[in-house]
Amino acid sequence: MSIVTNKLLLDNAKAGRYAVAAFNTNNLEYTQAILSAASQLRAPVIVSAAKSEVDYMGGHVFVAMVRAIAEDLPIPVAIHLDHGPDYEEAVRCLNYGFTSIMYDGSAHSLDTNISITKEVVRAARACGVPVEGEVGVIGQAADGPEGKKNDMTGIADPLECERFVKETGIDFLAAAIGNAHGIYKKKPELRFDVLEEIEKRTRVPLVLHGGTGIPEEDIRRAITMGVSKINFSTVMRKGCIETLTDTLVKNPGDWDLMKQLSPAKEKMIEIARQHIIMCMSDNKARLFE
Ligand SMILES: [Zn+2]
Repeated sequence: MSIVTNKLLLDNAKAGRYAVAAFNTNNLEYTQAILSAASQLRAPVIVSAAKSEVDYMGGHVFVAMVRAIAEDLPIPVAIHLDHGPDYEEAVRCLNYGFTSIMYDGSAHSLDTNISITKEVVRAARACGVPVEGEVGVIGQAADGPEGKKNDMTGIADPLECERFVKETGIDFLAAAIGNAHGIYKKKPELRFDVLEEIEKRTRVPLVLHGGTGIPEEDIRRAITMGVSKINFSTVMRKGCIETLTDTLVKNPGDWDLMKQLSPAKEKMIEIARQHIIMCMSDNKARLFE
C-alpha cells in the first residue's frame, strides 16, 4: 500500500471503532521501528513529527524517508505534522508533502484560534490534506524525570468545541479531557463525560494526545466513544534511551554504531506493537485494500 491522507485512515477508524496509533519520530531507526511494528501487525499507522522534529530531520528528508520505507509495506501510512505552531509551518509541511496537518492554536483565545485554524484549513484543502485542530489546553504531565511542571488544566468546553468545528471546518479534533504529554505523576483521570458531550456535538474523529501511561481500559473506552487517533511519543523515546544507555554501558569501547543502536530499535518495535494492539488497529490494513 502507500502513503494516504489521514482523513482516509481516521474516517475508517471511527466507523470501525478502533484508533490509529500516531507515533512521533526523530530519525531513521525510530521510523523503521514504527513502520516495522505496524507492518508486522498489518495496521494502518501515522508517522508524526512536531516542528522541532521536522527541523531536526529536515522536512523533505523526513517525508522521503517515510515514503521510501512505506513503499513496499502492506499497510496505509499517513505523514503528520504534530502541534503545528503557526500558519507558516503548516504551509511549509504541505509543501514537503505531509498528508495530515495539525495546527495547535490552543494557546490563543478561541476567536484567534478559530481564525488561524480557518486559514490553515483553506491552505490544506487546496492540497487535499486534512487538518487537526485543538481546543482546551493539553498540558505537560511531567517533562523528564524531574517533572518540571504539572499543568494538566484546561479541560475543553464542549460548546466551544462545537463552535470551533463548525466555524473552522477541521477534520479531526484534539480536545483536552484530562490527558497530558509526558509521564503522568498519578493515574490520569480522563473526563469521559466531557468526551461524550464533545463527540455528540462535533461528530468528527477525535484525537487523544498524551497516550503514554493512559491505562489500557481507558484507551479502549475512549475508542468506543469516538477517539480515532491516539498519539504516543514519550513511551517510545523513553524505551529507546533506556535501552541505548544499557547497551552502551554493557559494551564500552565498541564503536560499531549499528550494533549499539540495534537493541534500542528492537525495543521501539516492541513498544510500538504493544500500543498498536492497545488501539485495536492490528489487522485493519485489510480494510484499505
Ligand atoms: Zn500532543
